[in-house]
Order: sequence, then structure tokens, then C-alpha cells
Amino acid sequence: MTFRFDNTWARDLPGTFLRLAPDAAPAPELVFLNRPLAADLGLDADDLAAQGAAWFSGAALPPGADPVALAYAGHQFGGFSPVLGDGRAHLLGEHLAPDGRRYDLQLKGSGKTPFSRGGDGKAVLGPMLREALVSEAMAALGVPTTRALAVATTGEGIWRDSGRQPGAVLARIAASHIRVGSFQFLSARGETDKLQALTTYTLARHYPDAPAAETPALALFDAAAARQCRLIAQWMGLGFLHGVMNTDNMALSGETIDYGPCAFLDAFDPDTVFSSIDRQGRYSWANQPRILLWNLARLAEALLPLIDPNGDTAVAAANDRLDRVAALYRSEWLAVMRAKLGLAGEDATDGALIDELLAAMQGADWTLTFRRLAGAAAGDTAALRPLFPDFTLMQGWLPRWQARLAPDAAARMLAVNPAVIPRNHRVEEALTAATGGDMAPFDALLQALREPFVEREAYMLPPPSGFGPYVTFCGT
Ligand code: AMP
Ligand code: MG
Ligand code: MG
Repeated sequence: MTFRFDNTWARDLPGTFLRLAPDAAPAPELVFLNRPLAADLGLDADDLAAQGAAWFSGAALPPGADPVALAYAGHQFGGFSPVLGDGRAHLLGEHLAPDGRRYDLQLKGSGKTPFSRGGDGKAVLGPMLREALVSEAMAALGVPTTRALAVATTGEGIWRDSGRQPGAVLARIAASHIRVGSFQFLSARGETDKLQALTTYTLARHYPDAPAAETPALALFDAAAARQCRLIAQWMGLGFLHGVMNTDNMALSGETIDYGPCAFLDAFDPDTVFSSIDRQGRYSWANQPRILLWNLARLAEALLPLIDPNGDTAVAAANDRLDRVAALYRSEWLAVMRAKLGLAGEDATDGALIDELLAAMQGADWTLTFRRLAGAAAGDTAALRPLFPDFTLMQGWLPRWQARLAPDAAARMLAVNPAVIPRNHRVEEALTAATGGDMAPFDALLQALREPFVEREAYMLPPPSGFGPYVTFCGT
């Protein structure tokens, strides 16, 4: 089967998009096709392989596509931009899988739009393959995420700081592209009817089971906040740094979206930042839960006109919700960490036990520490010790942890603590080779990332001592 498009966004949400076609790529080539994802969507991968160079580069539209660039606003590093929008992306439509699931298909890097501002509307191969690798890793780790269906090169040369790069387009599958910034866009313009329409649309699309509420905006806030708390707790447990948690990069679906400057921790330092532009550490690992709350406050603020049109009780109702979110995040974080540590049930001292571990882990490899703690749960600390620059604090911590272990802790821990994550040095190596025309390292890394609980030593090792500090970039 090929795409079965429905275009409810373009039909139901007037005033939130501009209709326009992607750029025509001069010499398109398909360099990556996600066959397992195609199968999951009920698509014929051989058909996509045959048509993909044209369809996924913007050279030709798949039948039924109705390309639009979405309008949205956003707080970027705390500063509000009333108009951002898709500056280099085209939503082709919503594909309906045979079982009725609905997914956006969006091209990224497909040319300028009226939202491009100073940008060139383009993307280059390395960063698009990077998004494909990291989002596939997240999917395999059980984290809600947008996914890469394909990457095509366009045949254009695109200038970046790193020199002339092969132009590329990513075909992205998402539960939707509704962002906190989509609500901010309408709210800031005072378009309350459209804000209500977007609220109704989002509830129907992502939260059809939410109980019917007197104030749908509050029901939407609660449902979306719950998913976001879960999501950020999962990121934290995996040592994932999103890197650019602006409100335009927070999806109402609860999926991870916008893989720009993201990266995983190697050695643990809670203040880690990878993004070249995040000089104040706003989006550091440790700040992610605070930014979650900050962004949800911006969502609540955008919804205020729907909560109480007279404004009398809206702020109190929103604040009451936000207070609950902090507690909800805390419980999600404890649930993630209890699982990672193989704890039996729940105990009031678990929070302190986790905090003490984090203090002891400074400089130890995040991923390998949890993997090796599974061995320590079975009594063997030999593989754990060498990970720590200083094991002193761990000596005191281990017996307290061992006293809290579930009977089958080791096995449970091996099932939730991955062996393989997208190690920064491995990702860079794969992308450098791919940009030079050799996809073999990318393919091998992707295969390892798709089975993150299988121990493949070459993909488990921390970076060599000469690597780093690692720096990532936005908008490439
Ligand atoms: P991001 O940092 O990826 O969330 O992007 C923020 C905004 O910049 C969005 O409106 C993007 O569409 C836009 N943008 C990023 N890169 C480009 C580019 N090369 N050309 C045009 N717009 C871009
Ligand atoms: Mg973005
Ligand atoms: Mg981006």
C-alpha cells in the first residue's frame, strides 16, 4: 500500500498554515529508508524505495499530498517570538495506517517558506541522518518520538560553517506537529475562536479518551502535562539532553520532537550542555525538569482565554494545575529511577538514595554505570569500579542500595538500562563516513541502536580520551 492521506489540518484549522509546495530537488537520491517503520505504517517498502527519491526530496509529491507550512510562535531561550513557523519544512498530510492510526508526514529541509526569516530553508545530510539515528534509538528505547521514514539527498551543494555540504531532506513521521507554540501563536494574536478550534482538534486527535470536561482547555492541559512529565522523566533516566527545549519544540502529543543539538551524556555531570548556543546552560541535563514546568506554564498562559473568558478565575485555575505538575514529574522521575535501580516497591527514602547516587556518579559514565549496577545487584562490583574517578562515595552507597533490591533486580535492571545508546563519537564517525558516501558505519550503528539491550562491546565503550568536549549545533 502507498500513502493514504487525509488532510484534516488544512481542512479544520484555517488561519494556522500557508499552502505551498516544497522546492524541486535537481538530482534526488534516496540514501536511507526506514523499512521497519514503513511496515508498521502499512506501507509497501519496495514501492517507497522506487518512488522515495522523488517523494522524499520534494521533487514530486505523493498522490493525495497537500503541502502546507505551519504557523507557530515560541519562546526561544526564554524570549518570545510571536511568529516562527515552519521555515524549512512542509507538512504533506496525514497518513492513515490500516489500523486507523494517523501520522503526519513532513519534509524537513525542503525549501524556503514565508517563515524562513534569514534562513536558507535547507538542510544538509549529516544532521538529517543524525536525526534519523537518534530518533530510531529513542524509539527502540521505548521513548515516544517522531521518527525518520527516509532521508534523500537533493543534488544541491549547501553552504554551512563546515563548508559545502550535500543538501538533504528528512521525511518525518509524527503523531502530529502541534506544539505549545501553535497555541501561543493564536493566543498572542487574540484569535480565541481558532484557539478553541485547535484545543478541540488536539483533544480529539491525541486525547480521545480524556473525560468530557466543563473546560476542555484544562482537560487538554492536564492530559498533555501528564505525557510531558513522563517523557522528560524518560529522557532524564537515559541521560538524554534535548538541547533546545523551546516552546516551539514541545509537542502536545507527548513525543520527542526536533532533534537538533540533542545528545546523550557520556561521563555524568548534571550541568552538561552540548549545544553551541546554550551559553547559560538553560537546557542542561539537570535543568530539563525545570524547563518542562516553565514551558507548561507558557502553555497554561496561552490557554487562559479559554479557561475563563472573563479572566477572573483563570490564573488561579492554571496555577493550581501547575502546582500539581511539579509533584507529577517527581513521581515519574522516581518511577524511572526505581526501575533503573531494581528497587523493591517504594520507600520514603528512595529520593535520597537516588540523590546520593547522583552525587557519587560525578564523572562516571551514565549508561555503563546503570548497566554495571545490574552486575553489582548480583554481587559483582568488579566491572563497576573502573567507571568511577572516585569510588569512595559508592562504597557507602552500595550496601544501602543492596538492602532495597527486588529479588529479581539484576534481570529487571538489564531490561531497562540499555547497553547501547547513540554514543557521540560513534554518531560523528557514522555521519562523517556517510557524508563522504560510505553508509556502512551508519547502517551498522543503526542496527546496534535498534537492539539497545544487546551488548555489543564496540558500541558500548565511552569516547576515547582525545574526544570532546562534544559540541552540537542547531539549524544545520
Ligand atoms: P529549531 O531551532 O530547529 O526549533 O528552529 C527554530 C526556527 O528556525 C523554526 O522556525 C525553523 O523552521 C527555523 N529554521 C531552522 N533552520 C532553518 C533554515 N536553515 N532555514 C529556514 N528556517 C530555519
Ligand atoms: Mg523546531
Ligand atoms: Mg530544529
